[in-house]
Amino acid sequence: MTLVYQSTRDENNKVTASQAILQGLATDGGLFTPLTIPQVNLDFDLLKNASYQEVAKLVLSAFLDDFTEEELDYCINNAYDTKFDTTAIAPLVKLGNQYNLELFHGSTIAFKDMALSILPYLLTTSAKKQGVDNKIVILTATSGDTGKAAMAGFADVPGTEIIVFYPKDGVSKIQELQMTTQTGDNTHVIAIDGNFDDAQTDVKRMFNDEDLRARLLEKKTQFSSANSMNIGRLVPQVVYYVYAYAQMVKAGHIKNGDKVNFTVPTGNFGNILAAYYAKQIGVPVNKLICASNENNVLTDFFATGTYDKKRDFKVTTSPSMDILVSSNLERLIFHLLGNSAASTKELMENLSTKGQYTLVDANQDILALFAAGFASEEETAAEIKRVYDECQYIEDPHTAVASAVYQVYAEKSGDQTPTVIASTASPYKFPRVTVAAVTGQDSDDDFKAVEELRKLSGVAIPVAVDGLETAEVRHKTVVATADMQKAVETYLGLV
Ligand SMILES: *Cc1c(COP(=O)(O)O)cnc(C)c1O
Repeated sequence: MTLVYQSTRDENNKVTASQAILQGLATDGGLFTPLTIPQVNLDFDLLKNASYQEVAKLVLSAFLDDFTEEELDYCINNAYDTKFDTTAIAPLVKLGNQYNLELFHGSTIAFKDMALSILPYLLTTSAKKQGVDNKIVILTATSGDTGKAAMAGFADVPGTEIIVFYPKDGVSKIQELQMTTQTGDNTHVIAIDGNFDDAQTDVKRMFNDEDLRARLLEKKTQFSSANSMNIGRLVPQVVYYVYAYAQMVKAGHIKNGDKVNFTVPTGNFGNILAAYYAKQIGVPVNKLICASNENNVLTDFFATGTYDKKRDFKVTTSPSMDILVSSNLERLIFHLLGNSAASTKELMENLSTKGQYTLVDANQDILALFAAGFASEEETAAEIKRVYDECQYIEDPHTAVASAVYQVYAEKSGDQTPTVIASTASPYKFPRVTVAAVTGQDSDDDFKAVEELRKLSGVAIPVAVDGLETAEVRHKTVVATADMQKAVETYLGLV
């Protein structure tokens, strides 16, 4: 039997995994979501000795069940190779009472690499399976990390073009340079004078613009998405939660069957939703702890049942979480409402017309799985310092948000369940913020801070940052939010 992916907004819009990956977003504005949970045999006494690639094969074959074994092998073996600087792919580090799962060993040193190194293979394989020979244009809004990781994956992939929008003043210097120095003839990077939500909203709008879609088809071109709205992003993220649990068993931190908590620094709700699916397929989970920065719309949502985006957008030191409209929450809402597309659609319409919605009659068993909290800017910096002082280890600001939220949660709840922190970026992506948090000294130069960070942490400077200072800036376009479509049409030769 083939797993059905259905749009969260239309019960008649049902597709297979490869169709969902190819389309990216449902044209009705919803997100393709698995209607049932696939059966996976998770035997951790065996899995504790499995490689990352083997765990990936197990999980992907369950969720992407219209792919053949050969197709999955091809995708997995090309994705999780020496682009990662450790054969463990996602190592687990014990730091006091928490376990940090390092998801930043890929080519752009953020967790987005975990999924974006495989997405180009999943997408081109899906196109082949569906007999589609249109050029695939990846249209992406980024809060800093997706853009670079997607371009690294798609650069010079035949039959694809990638266009990335990022908020001009909403990313770190290193993040910006990583993007603007990107090579590859099929890559385009555009800064906009708005924030991430502005970029994401307009990208979604372009996806659903029928006129634009028709004009693209005339040129044998179609859009797809590299954002976590694409299940081709989401499913590969389930893998590392299964792998983390196996590593916890292997290291003797827990016995097979013991529960763990996962604390996830959350923006668009993709990473933590993957943890939810990991629990659904059988990873023993006690709590999923949703950690936010000062853009704490999700903390309030879990506390009150009301999602209210009508608030000031804050630019923080954890920019990849500066988001007020968490796209993937729509999938959890769908599950909370008993997989009802009609009810989900109504709430999402309230969000766009009234700026808020309130959950009623939600599945309490699912809600009870989640805990939520947020860390202020001061608390985040203090957490970086605490972990450094106690463990001589430097967390990036996103990871520190999660770590700070977990420490408060553990203290308040008394919950002693072993807890894995999803560590989503290398501190080298945010050298000034991390060095300032540890030393109390602000440095005026990112690359001086990189050197300082190397001395403090003893961790070698990653290839992703080395050489960035002198690399050629190839992308310099800045447009108003209102002109995003014009820029797309120009690149694609529609005007
Ligand atoms: C994207 C990102 C996040 C947020 O992940 P979501 O899946 O959007 O919730 C957290 N930390 C870093 C470093 C990121 O790049």
